[in-house]
Amino acid sequence: MSKLNSICIFGGGSAGWLTALALRTYLPEVHITIAISKKHSNIGVGESTQPDLLDLLAHCNVDIQDFCKQVDTTQKKGIYYANWNTIGSNFWHPFTSLTETGTYTRAHHYNIMHKRDPKNYPIEDYYTRVHPNYDDYALHIDADKMATYLRNHLHNSVQIIDFDQYSIQSINNKIDYITVDGVEIKSDLYVDCTGFSKVLVDTIDNNETDNYEGNVNAALFTRIPYGHPRTTRIPHTKADAWGNGWCWTIPLTTRIGSGCTYNTNFCSTDDAIDHFVEYWEGAITKDDISAVEFSSKSLLNPWKSNVVAIGLSAGFVEPLEATGISWFVLSAQMLGITLRNRYFDDSTAMLYNGSMRSFIEDVQDFIDVHYMLSDRNDTQFWRYQTSVNRHRHPRLHKRLELYKKHMPNKNNRQGNVPWAFNDVSWLDILTGYHFDFDDQDIPSHLISEMNTELKEVELMEPSNVVL
Ligand SMILES: Cc1cc2nc3c(=O)[nH]c(=O)nc-3n(C[C@H](O)[C@H](O)[C@H](O)COP(=O)(O)OP(=O)(O)OC[C@H]3O[C@@H](n4cnc5c(N)ncnc54)[C@H](O)[C@@H]3O)c2cc1C
Repeated sequence: MSKLNSICIFGGGSAGWLTALALRTYLPEVHITIAISKKHSNIGVGESTQPDLLDLLAHCNVDIQDFCKQVDTTQKKGIYYANWNTIGSNFWHPFTSLTETGTYTRAHHYNIMHKRDPKNYPIEDYYTRVHPNYDDYALHIDADKMATYLRNHLHNSVQIIDFDQYSIQSINNKIDYITVDGVEIKSDLYVDCTGFSKVLVDTIDNNETDNYEGNVNAALFTRIPYGHPRTTRIPHTKADAWGNGWCWTIPLTTRIGSGCTYNTNFCSTDDAIDHFVEYWEGAITKDDISAVEFSSKSLLNPWKSNVVAIGLSAGFVEPLEATGISWFVLSAQMLGITLRNRYFDDSTAMLYNGSMRSFIEDVQDFIDVHYMLSDRNDTQFWRYQTSVNRHRHPRLHKRLELYKKHMPNKNNRQGNVPWAFNDVSWLDILTGYHFDFDDQDIPSHLISEMNTELKEVELMEPSNVVL
């Protein structure tokens, strides 16, 4: 069993700083160093978040109003999906606290009534009836400004070292110490936050990943000033599907962050660039665009030996649904909680890795349904993603069988592991694809609850938020 007195975080992107923030709060007596290379920049994307970022900031006593001002944030009420099920159709994944209202919520009951009485409960009315107001929200952030903000916030409470040169000493797949510009950093635990470079992870040969096959594997991205007629301020992230992937629009206070994902097996980078430029109707040129390719595999054990990988170094699925930062937030908090007793051994790491796996598998399943349930077959990309021969994890098929019979609900989602998405989120997406739920055998004691809720739905004015 190793005693924990010091932690070194290597890398100062979103993952590095959020980890520093969480660990500073959860482990007040532990010495924390964050070491940042001057030669490598942050990736510069990652601007759509989930409500858990706000929760972490509040928990760590960050002044939210000040944060929002300095980090150029706007409110994100959810994600608007255009052209995913069919070209011209749309649906909506809002943030809501509805999931706290019971095992079966309005979202469940509406779907059941749609099954029994589709004329009076049309699927098209689901979003406006079930989500008449959006009672929760997240933030769109400027990722670089968030790193600067957290740096200023933590500069008195963590040791910050900016360096040019470094070398790493390891013994038996364990980091012994890191030397940065001649200064030795020797810590009990190291957190690899070096993004896709995976500097520490590779040093200890932590290379076992899952074999998940992503739906897209490359993205173009850019920043667009307001002013062009095509740039509008919207209170949500827009995910707009196209023939080879999808484009995102993330409005910040002073500019828009936008990107275009694609799959290199079906589309060349040149073709994706042409689509992206056309998509913005003259608001961007080819010269404004950066490109990145990525793998969608994740480490089976993000914590191995005395190195914990958090951020892109641990893995990534894809930008859809903003699961990257959400995963960092969970990882940093779990690490803080796991280490509260200030010692660790293999079983501590095993417990942590188990939680990470269940989270990332939920992400993979959730992302996969967005593609596999689509009715699109207009391109080779969509025909492949929707084909019954396209390999999807058997867990997902089982899950959809279960959800067809019983809908995703609190009783069929184990409570002792972290999930990335709650049951109402699953329902919102499945409903967007007109998923054919069976008529549900609702426990009799819940029927009166359903009737009351549906009466409320009848009385409510539909939402006036324009999709
Ligand atoms: C195209 C794309 C879009 C994304 N969009 C979203 C989104 O909207 N929402 C979301 O939640 N997530 C998103 N993600 C995932 C992820 O949340 C973001 O990319 C996030 O900004 C990554 O943060 P990071 O700290 O892991 O990596 P980085 O920002 O890349 O930081 C890496 C750090 O490591 C250092 N470093 C790198 N290489 C080396 C080296 N060789 N030696 C020493 N130091 C090094 C750098 O200096 C930097 O400090 C997206 C990812 C991609 C690829």
